[in-house]
Amino acid sequence: MSKPNPFEISQKQLADCAKILCLDAGVHEFLKHPMREFHVSIPVRMDDGRMKVFQGFRVQYNDALGPCKGGIRFHPEETIDTVRALSAWMTWKTSLLGLPLGGGKGGVICNPKEMSAGELERLCRGYIDALWQNLGPEKDVPAPDVYTTPQMMAWMMDQFSKHTGNNSFGMITGKPLCVGGSCGRGDATARGGMYALREAAKEFNIDLSKATVAIQGYGNAGSYAHSLAKELFGCKVVAVSDSKGGVFNAAGIDADEAARVKAQTSSVANIPNCKKISNEELLELNVDILVAAALENVITKDNAGKVKAKVIVELANGPTTPEADAILFQNKVHVIPDFLANAGGVTVSYFEMVQNIMRYCWSFDEVYQKLDERMTMAYQGVLAASKKYNINMRQAAYTVAVARVVDAMKTRGWV
Ligand code: NAD
Repeated sequence: MSKPNPFEISQKQLADCAKILCLDAGVHEFLKHPMREFHVSIPVRMDDGRMKVFQGFRVQYNDALGPCKGGIRFHPEETIDTVRALSAWMTWKTSLLGLPLGGGKGGVICNPKEMSAGELERLCRGYIDALWQNLGPEKDVPAPDVYTTPQMMAWMMDQFSKHTGNNSFGMITGKPLCVGGSCGRGDATARGGMYALREAAKEFNIDLSKATVAIQGYGNAGSYAHSLAKELFGCKVVAVSDSKGGVFNAAGIDADEAARVKAQTSSVANIPNCKKISNEELLELNVDILVAAALENVITKDNAGKVKAKVIVELANGPTTPEADAILFQNKVHVIPDFLANAGGVTVSYFEMVQNIMRYCWSFDEVYQKLDERMTMAYQGVLAASKKYNINMRQAAYTVAVARVVDAMKTRGWV
């Protein structure tokens, strides 16, 4: 079976939202396509002396609200339609969070696992050579994404600075701290999700200090969700998993021990004194909170009816299929949708841009406080729209985000 085309999915989601908002047909047509996209060929001298040419993309989906913002992915199976879809989702995410930014995304078809550090550095610098005139703090600000790292962001910033003749720290985010990175970027995605969870718990009278949590996926998002759920609220995390399987312990699983076992054995499935469970079983556990922090399409029409959690926090992008969404809504499972739940990352990226432009560094506490304000405001806005139209939280998030972009387009006189 062929994989669903992500751009078609994003267009379908937009069409549903256009109906709810009774969008003018011309406005909907404008929003269905990226405003600009760039396709570039990047020649790179490989370590063995060969010249290899890589295909790269940058899509600027919509910049009505401000400069585009979105990551750059290095992936062997990168496609222009994936980048288009992700740039659309970035447009809605920055809008939802009330950031003065549009949405963009970039990608290069390559396999970074098979490339040396030198080859990757030359590819990063080549990407900027090909695109620098279309990037910058007032135009389009990239960030790390799948298989791109803070070090790569530093190389790209340096190459851009060579072209402009300035120290252009604000042209890219997710940089190491010593070259203009922000405090708090590391755990920002999970932390933002936890602030949204706190708001949901208030709404549904869930005492988080007594709540049980299951976490699927134990990378950046999932592992920080574990430590923060305990640190911020005193939750008991009873199950964790990664690609090699999962474990359950009704007495709770310690975050430090999970991190140690993951580092030593490469999987949380080896945590001792726990019952081994599959990733499928984890989703159906009798817990209060389910954190989906691994992959897309894991909650489907086949298992959505078996989910017992009261709240799902979607730190992963796209973990719930549209059919599953309908079942969860009917069963009164409260889903905090991906582009709200995982928006902490782009929000702290925005803070990084602001600090670079101000030439000022905020403390961890300042970053956390500002992130909390943004996430709380966004969550409450989505909840209010969900109640107003009697629609699920994902549809509600779309209506809030798309309406803001449309308002800016109209105010600027574009449509
Ligand atoms: P990561 O690569 O650090 O971790 C992914 C984790 O998922 C790993 O523990 C891996 O073992 C696990 N995994 C892979 N296949 C699995 C499977 N079949 N079942 C269970 N677990 C599986 O990635 P991440 O940065 O933590 O991102 C996770 C998700 O969150 C992705 O969907 C990503 O797009 C989304 N996200 C992350 C950020 C961020 O700042 N890290 C921001 C926004 C969205």
